[in-house]
Amino acid sequence: MAAVLRAPALLEVVCNALSDSGWNYFVHSPGKPFGISLERSGRERNNLRIFIWNCTHGGGAARALNEYRIQFTGVVPRFYLGETTLLLGWHAGYGVFAAWNLGMHQGQDSGSPSAQIREDILRGAYENGFAVGERANGEIVAAFRPELLAEYAANVVAIHGGRMEDLNVLNELPLLGVAEKGDYAPRPRVASTIFRAYREADFSRRVLAAYSSRCAMCGIQLKLIEAAHIVPVAAPFSTDMTCNGVALCALHHKAYDTNLVSIAEDYGVQISETRVAELRRANLAGGINSFANGLQQFISLPADRRDYPSVDNITISRQIRGWQR
Ligand SMILES: [Zn+2]
Repeated sequence: MAAVLRAPALLEVVCNALSDSGWNYFVHSPGKPFGISLERSGRERNNLRIFIWNCTHGGGAARALNEYRIQFTGVVPRFYLGETTLLLGWHAGYGVFAAWNLGMHQGQDSGSPSAQIREDILRGAYENGFAVGERANGEIVAAFRPELLAEYAANVVAIHGGRMEDLNVLNELPLLGVAEKGDYAPRPRVASTIFRAYREADFSRRVLAAYSSRCAMCGIQLKLIEAAHIVPVAAPFSTDMTCNGVALCALHHKAYDTNLVSIAEDYGVQISETRVAELRRANLAGGINSFANGLQQFISLPADRRDYPSVDNITISRQIRGWQR
């Protein structure tokens, strides 16, 4: 039986979900409903207000076996002006969020106020990342893995205001060619943005798992690790296969993307003398010795040979990136 979480633990679930999907967050209101500001890459921002309860069966012989629910205790859900307001449940057993259309539940404070979701939708999210369904009253409900929380929030209006015939594609994310080049974009737009986030999260999860969340160039973990593409995403030959990825800490990811370091075909880690000379001329080579000393001679490799960086990808990548020794 999964634990029923108290508010501080639910806040931790939400924060972990946001940080695992690559967002910086700031909790400005830790009491219910949670107030959280999101920011990514210094450009995208979202102010969230989150009503969240444990999603449980709740027992009782009169209740359908396949129906789960949240019960609004303590606060009455309502929209917060100027904030993206979410009405969520956390199902600890499946490790997924459930989500309702706040517009259909705001101000709901009857005797036993609650919102329901069918188990097959929760299970669909557990298996496929994202799931949507329609309740008998016409309400669109959704469920999703934690790493899709920020993307759900960005599209909350389009999802709950959408039509099932358009949204059904969200029930099939793993079938949409995850390992393929990313120019495939399902319609409508909400589906393509959720699909892109799903692919990024899927790539990141596989790459981090392959390298045990350790930087392949310096060995640190510390949750400072990112999944870097070897052939860059923007390039025509890029894929989301694990063999086109390598786990790097934020410092070495940046160094890799700016051609200060590279991975050679023999998996050696190289520093660009050309780039260092350029930086010296610009008086920007401070710390180069300790930087060089922090690098392994060869990258650490995954346990599974199939996950090793593909040598072809390395060659293509060095050409595309314009690598100079
Ligand atoms: Zn590193």
